[in-house]
Amino acid sequence: MDLLSARINSLAPSATIAMNQKGREMKEKGVDVINLSVGEPDFKTPEHIREAAKSAIDGDWHHYSPIAGYADLLKAISDKFKRENNLEYKPSQIIVSVGAKHSLANAMMCLIDPGDEVIVPAPYWVSYVEQVKIAEGKNVILDTGVEDDFKITPRQLEAAITQKTKALLLCSPSNPTGSVYTREELEGLAGVLTRHPQVYILADEIYEHINFTGGHESIAQFEAIRDRVVVINGVSKAYAMTGWRIGYMAGPEWLAKACNKLQGQMTSGACSIAQRAALAALTGDQQCVAGMREAFLRRRDLILGHLEQIDGVRCSTPGGAFYVFPDFSSYFGKSFNGRKIENSMDLCLYLLEERHIATVPGSAFGAEGCIRISYANSDENLEKAMQRLKDALAALS
Ligand code: PMP
Ligand code: GLU
Repeated sequence: MDLLSARINSLAPSATIAMNQKGREMKEKGVDVINLSVGEPDFKTPEHIREAAKSAIDGDWHHYSPIAGYADLLKAISDKFKRENNLEYKPSQIIVSVGAKHSLANAMMCLIDPGDEVIVPAPYWVSYVEQVKIAEGKNVILDTGVEDDFKITPRQLEAAITQKTKALLLCSPSNPTGSVYTREELEGLAGVLTRHPQVYILADEIYEHINFTGGHESIAQFEAIRDRVVVINGVSKAYAMTGWRIGYMAGPEWLAKACNKLQGQMTSGACSIAQRAALAALTGDQQCVAGMREAFLRRRDLILGHLEQIDGVRCSTPGGAFYVFPDFSSYFGKSFNGRKIENSMDLCLYLLEERHIATVPGSAFGAEGCIRISYANSDENLEKAMQRLKDALAALS
């Protein structure tokens, strides 16, 4: 007899976190692993943000916060939307949660009924499809490839929408591909969505500030669909605050109210100290964000420069985030010392166990031929890792 619920048994563990853990364990045993698996900035949280947290600890921020977040933080998020995105959201339309992952889970649990269809463009971030399963929705995967820069077209979207479609997940800049939708491309998708008023758009904009194309474009800017867009964002990536666990959603007020009710039963408000730190991040000097973006752009070019030198690799030029998603399928079928590489998981395990570089298999993102390499690591480690990757591939026959 299985003691666990069907819900949990249907769930896959997070592959990004699993590969990170595997790399971490090998490192603890003394192996010189270079970890390019998990997607998190390698920088320390900027000093003024850390100082704000220290003051909060010594001040009077030790009790439960309002479920939706402190009023001044909600106001700071509302101001951020106005300042950076030219979007009007009242504080009552915003909910602060324990990371963007939690914000997304709240929105799904409040929107999706069993059997509702959720359109998920692939390659997708690992947690989307699993969260849809938790909400008992049905994933409708739209495949894209390196040849179309991993972006869906309006025609593809139109063909996938049915009467049962409840939501579209859109991630730009994208994890795992780094692709960034242009304003015109978003307008094309918005045009289709305008004709289907039952479809909500979950716009994951967590990589907003790690964008090398000149500026972020939100699908929430299009008036005709604006009241059906739920923007998911947070401080994890832009301010190197992954461990602080603060994310937020902004959308229709009725949905914010529902998320407030759910969060009130599941977690209460997010950590008080982390909320004070997030307030300092959003209201303080933004120079730190630009500095980290510059470093990521330099590292992207470093990685792409190496990948170009490897035979049989196909890779897009990511416009944002801190991942490259090269297609290595031309190496499948080859072997090293009797160890055959049949798929992306075999390749990642070979790279980790024999060459000590941790990456994530494309299969976890719904794209079997590829692997994800996070370049949120030092230039020195990236140079070393790319040399190891080249040697590893050259050793396959
Ligand atoms: N969305 C995407 C696309 C991500 O890559 C991440 C990072 N894990 C998240 C959401 C969640 O971020 P957070 O750390 O704020 O939960
Ligand atoms: N977003 C990161 C990644 O995709 C963090 C890990 C996670 O939350 O899945 O690697």
